[in-house]
Amino acid sequence: MVAAKRAQDGKTIHVLSSGLKAAATWSRVETLQDCREGFLSENKIGEICNDFNVDVTFEGDNTVMMQQVARACLEDKASLAAGLAAPLQAGQLAAAPRGPLPAGLLTSLLQYRQQTLTQQLASEMAAASKGVSSRAAAEKAAAAAFDNNLDVTVQLGWAWTERFCLDNFVKAASQAQPTDLQPVLSLLASLYGMTRVERDAAFFLAAGVINGQDRASLRQRVHLVFDELVAGNGKLALSLVNAFGIPDHLLQAPIAFDWRLIGAPTAK
Ligand SMILES: Cc1cc2nc3c(=O)[nH]c(=O)nc-3n(C[C@H](O)[C@H](O)[C@H](O)COP(=O)(O)OP(=O)(O)OC[C@H]3O[C@@H](n4cnc5c(N)ncnc54)[C@H](O)[C@@H]3O)c2cc1C
Repeated sequence: MVAAKRAQDGKTIHVLSSGLKAAATWSRVETLQDCREGFLSENKIGEICNDFNVDVTFEGDNTVMMQQVARACLEDKASLAAGLAAPLQAGQLAAAPRGPLPAGLLTSLLQYRQQTLTQQLASEMAAASKGVSSRAAAEKAAAAAFDNNLDVTVQLGWAWTERFCLDNFVKAASQAQPTDLQPVLSLLASLYGMTRVERDAAFFLAAGVINGQDRASLRQRVHLVFDELVAGNGKLALSLVNAFGIPDHLLQAPIAFDWRLIGAPTAK
């Protein structure tokens, strides 16, 4: 799309790059924090944390980027007009067969969250401008409501971005070649979708789409996928990491090898 340089794609590229930039850099900061292993300097994670932390601000502050995504959602008239049928009733998730949840259900849940938040934000803005005499004053009141709902705005930015990523992940997994890659990539797509719902469980609980038992069931399903990935000494997880083709010369930190040996006395 970028290479085609078509004027009509400008808005889509803007929204996509805003959401992906913010989500990717915030996720990277979080992942590095999870990996930091007490900042053992040999692992270089401390240095990388320092280097990448500024990414959440530069080339567009992430909060502002997510506001731009939310703004684009508000311009999607079809989404604003659509009815909000919840894809699940509380209790159904816990009753579903054991194992990863199907991709179709997960994409519907993320679509539902995006639409609900879009309509919530739009109604806050409409309520703020209702009864205001002049058009200019009404626009000002709506803009103030947009700013005052920063929590919903950022949540909506995430909701749009994660829905976009899951839709494309599911599609790419189902079309992967050779076809024997499809099961493992579909498993990862399901893991991604389930962890997105789990992370924003507060939204789905408040909306009445899931209940406490569903929440617990979701957690167990995520753990089942982890178990599958690390089974047989991490055979599947290691193959997936190896598929990135990270060259040996970049694998110099001790954490890239057997972490049990870190700090072990060396033989004289
Ligand atoms: C390491 C680094 C290198 C850089 N290099 C360059 C460079 O080479 N060239 C260059 O031109 N610039 C550079 N910058 C600047 C960078 O692009 C800007 O800092 C960045 O885009 C954010 O803009 P800002 O500083 O104006 O912050 P703002 O966008 O003003 O944001 C400041 C704070 O206010 C919050 N905020 C802003 N608007 C709202 C709102 N409406 N509602 C709620 N909160 C809001 C933001 O979340 C943020 O916390 C660099 C910055 C860094 C950190």
